[in-house]
Amino acid sequence: MTHPLKTTDDILTKDAHLIQSFANLDALKQNDARTAIVGAEGIHVTDSEGNKLIDGIGGLWCVNVGHGRREIIDAITEQLNTLDYYSTFYNFTHPAAAALADKLASLAPGNLNRVYFGNSGSVANDSAIRMLHHYNNRLGRPNKKKILSRMGAYHGSTHLAMAMTTPGYSEEWDTAADGLVHHLMEPCAYHQAEPGMSDAEFLDVLVEDMEKAIHDIGAENIACFIAEPIMGAGGVLVAPDGYHKRMREITAANDIKYIADEVVTAFGRLGAMFASEDVFGMQPDIINTAKGLTSGYQPLSATIISDEIYDVISEPGAMFLHGMTYSGHPAAAAAGLANIEILEREDIPGQVQVTGKIFENALRGLGDLDIVGDVRGSHFMMGLEFIKDKSTKTAFDADDNVGGKVAKHAQDRGLIARALGNSLILSPTLILDADNIASIEAILRD
Ligand code: PLP
Repeated sequence: MTHPLKTTDDILTKDAHLIQSFANLDALKQNDARTAIVGAEGIHVTDSEGNKLIDGIGGLWCVNVGHGRREIIDAITEQLNTLDYYSTFYNFTHPAAAALADKLASLAPGNLNRVYFGNSGSVANDSAIRMLHHYNNRLGRPNKKKILSRMGAYHGSTHLAMAMTTPGYSEEWDTAADGLVHHLMEPCAYHQAEPGMSDAEFLDVLVEDMEKAIHDIGAENIACFIAEPIMGAGGVLVAPDGYHKRMREITAANDIKYIADEVVTAFGRLGAMFASEDVFGMQPDIINTAKGLTSGYQPLSATIISDEIYDVISEPGAMFLHGMTYSGHPAAAAAGLANIEILEREDIPGQVQVTGKIFENALRGLGDLDIVGDVRGSHFMMGLEFIKDKSTKTAFDADDNVGGKVAKHAQDRGLIARALGNSLILSPTLILDADNIASIEAILRD
């Protein structure tokens, strides 16, 4: 072992040199603000004090098949014993990347048959944009570059992915792509619909917003629309029924590519391998995914593009000037293959259609609590929004941090949940049974 840190004190002393992500670094200078996770098995993780906690956030929306799956660990080890590293640069390929690309092409909808591997969801999203910009250059339309994204979106932390993310994330942090991205309205009715508005009426508002943006910017200047099927890190924000299909029709009519950011929603979380087609009934031009692709056992992302886009960027004379050293790393690709084998053999997406609904209904039941203003999401992707006064719909102040307080109490009772301002997010492993779900509900109700 190269990291023989045994006690909490040992770990937290060294941890002073580690920069945590999305953290209040000043607050973390207090040892008791940090939790060291030292082990994991099934639906649980163990902290350095020996507490066994239900992993209610599946690592970070990613440990879909649960922790400690021997098959995935063995596949990684076997791969490293055979071929530790080789790239997919130039004319090189290797069996694990080839097999996984083939598998993803067979699982992805319609003509989404070409796979570019990266090592994170952010890179998957950046890669899609670079490819589409190149595609438009090849087609002789160098101005068709702008990106339609949405308020509330989260697309990652690289400079470009953060520019597509909702502006709220980068208030004190610059974005590198000023003027490139236009953010459409957040599509969540609880926040945006006028009182008394029906879902259909709210959808009309969102459609109008999209059509106005296309009119103002000009379709000839817009490369793509990027959307999470359900917004995750923005607070589990669900668009009204029919939204994605409608947006798909509008983008297709205007020759704007539709990028589905399925970094969270793929590989079973919503009861399907990919949510775009099976849950939302539409086929995008590009699907980006990561997280559940390996259930987090190795870092890997995939940008899955249509044959139509591929044909243009691979025509004679075109060069693919894009790549990361670890694109399609053998160990990550082996993890992806073993993970998908488990998802298919155990029919985890099929199970989620049942257990995910039990989970969703259990959380919806918490809507009877005075402090719960809204319960949103679907299957194993759920959010609770806390409210100061339900009758007047008066929100807590941003610095009330009710999500943080509830998450702390939940952790004290054996459940890790994720705080997001005055909301709480649950995105557990997909292998919870009805008893596990009842325990989570009881902790949250308490
Ligand atoms: N897209 C979505 C929808 C995400 O939720 C995330 C991460 O949470 C990302 C992209 C970025 O992925 P990564 O953190 O692997 O770069």
